[in-house]
Amino acid sequence: MSLIKDFRKSMDEVAAKKVTKTDVLKNAYVPDEHQKILLANAGFTPVLKSDTRRLQIIDGDSGRTLFASYYNAMRKDGRLPEARMGREFARWLAIGEMLYLGRKETWLYAIVITNRGSNFEESVDDVEDSSLAGLGLTELAARVRTLEGQPAKRLRLSAVIERNPVVRALAILRSQGHCEMPDCRVEGFVKVDGSRYLEVHHIHQLCLGGDDAIANVAALCATCHARVHYSVDAVSLETSLKKAVLDANKRHNLA
Ligand SMILES: [Zn+2]
Repeated sequence: MSLIKDFRKSMDEVAAKKVTKTDVLKNAYVPDEHQKILLANAGFTPVLKSDTRRLQIIDGDSGRTLFASYYNAMRKDGRLPEARMGREFARWLAIGEMLYLGRKETWLYAIVITNRGSNFEESVDDVEDSSLAGLGLTELAARVRTLEGQPAKRLRLSAVIERNPVVRALAILRSQGHCEMPDCRVEGFVKVDGSRYLEVHHIHQLCLGGDDAIANVAALCATCHARVHYSVDAVSLETSLKKAVLDANKRHNLA
C-alpha cells in the first residue's frame, strides 16, 4: 500500500489538487471544489478578506509553525468571489506539487508531495511504489524526517489547525451519545472503541471570532452537522441548537 493510499485510509475524507502557477503567482492557493467541501465539513468556510482568519499549520518536515488564512477574494467584472488560502500557506507550496488535504472528524491534515527539480509524475510513481505499507500518521510523520536529504523527492505531512481536544471531549460527554439537535436526538453509531460517533460543531464559527469553548459547541450526528451547514433551514436549526446548548450547559453546570 502506498503512502497516499494509507493517508486516504486514515482520513474520513481526502481531496487533492496540483499546485498551479497561478496559485504561486497570486501567493494564494485556490482550493478546488472537493477541497472546499472538505474544509466546510471540518467547519471552515471562507470569510471576507477584511476578516482575520488564521489556520495554524505545523510543518511536519521542519517543525515550523506557519499561518494560513481562508478567505473570499472579491473579483472584478461581476465574477463570484474566489475562496483562497493565503498568508504563509501559498509560500509553503511550489508549482507542480500535489497538495492532499485530509479531514479526520474536524481535524485537518495536509500532505504535500514535492519533487523540486525533476518530473512531477515520476515522483508520484516513486512515492506510490515505495514500501510505506500500513503506516499510521505518527509513523508517517517520523518517516518524513527520514526522507530528508533526498531533495528530489520530499514529502511533507502537516497537521493543520489545532482545536482544544478537551472542549471536544466535553461536548461529547454532555451529549451522552445523542445528537444535540432538539428535533433529532438520534444516538450516534458505536465506533470500534465502543464510544458513540458524533461530530463537534462550532455554533459561532471560529473563523468569525467564535470561541473554542463549551458554550459554543454542539455534538451532532453526521446528518445534523451537514444540515446546519447546508440545509434550507440552516438558520432556524442554528437558533434551536443555540438554545439547546444553553439549556444543556445549565443542566450540567458547565457554563
Ligand atoms: Zn442529528
